[in-house]
Amino acid sequence: MEPLATFKLVLVGDGGTGKTTFVKRHRTGEFEKKYVATVGVEVHPLVFYTNKGPIQFNVWDTAGQEKFGGLRDGYYIQGQCAIIMFDVTSRVTYKNVPNWHRDLVRVCDSIPIVLCGNKVDVKDRKVKAKAIDFHRKKNLQYYDTSAKSNYNFEKPFLWLARKLVGDDNLELVESPALEPPEVYMDPELASKYEAELFIAAKTALPDEYGTDDY
Ligand code: GDP
Ligand code: MG
Repeated sequence: MEPLATFKLVLVGDGGTGKTTFVKRHRTGEFEKKYVATVGVEVHPLVFYTNKGPIQFNVWDTAGQEKFGGLRDGYYIQGQCAIIMFDVTSRVTYKNVPNWHRDLVRVCDSIPIVLCGNKVDVKDRKVKAKAIDFHRKKNLQYYDTSAKSNYNFEKPFLWLARKLVGDDNLELVESPALEPPEVYMDPELASKYEAELFIAAKTALPDEYGTDDY
């Protein structure tokens, strides 16, 4: 099958949220990554096999510059899709999501974006489903992820692929080869979180009520 296309995926979010851990799970992407010294990034070519052919995401990951403030425009330029990551065990990383989103859309206008709340394997979660509403105001997709357990690894890529190709019926026909899990995602916890996200999605945003007279 002919490759459908290759897309630049910009990965952003606070330092320590798990971006590098996440992108390194994909074995061939990690094996074939390239360091681009001029911008100080590693580009991981992640291939996913779909019913419409293979699709490649060139995932840009920083060398840690985000810990010292924003990223240069060169990081974002020609980005075709993005993942904004925060850490569900750290409220400040969620609080900073609007800043990452602003910096991103300033350069990449109207690209598909997924918000990921990572480290959901950690028992003492601080940012709960009902507190996560930024994606609903900005039309992003949201997923809970756990890079260390591979939980929901493919979800953001499949959603982006569907948007980029313009086909909601796009499916993966093969799971990518991933590093073995380093931690175990408790299936009961996973179903609890899935139920909470479902309820949160059904709940109106506070703004939609307008006034207290409602
Ligand atoms: P980055 O700065 O966003 O690239 O974050 P790193 O990938 O360097 O990860 C920061 C720390 O978080 C490391 O100690 C990782 O081992 C840890 N980490 C990353 N993802 C997960 C996860 O899904 N679960 C847990 N428990 N720890 C994680
Ligand atoms: Mg990193």
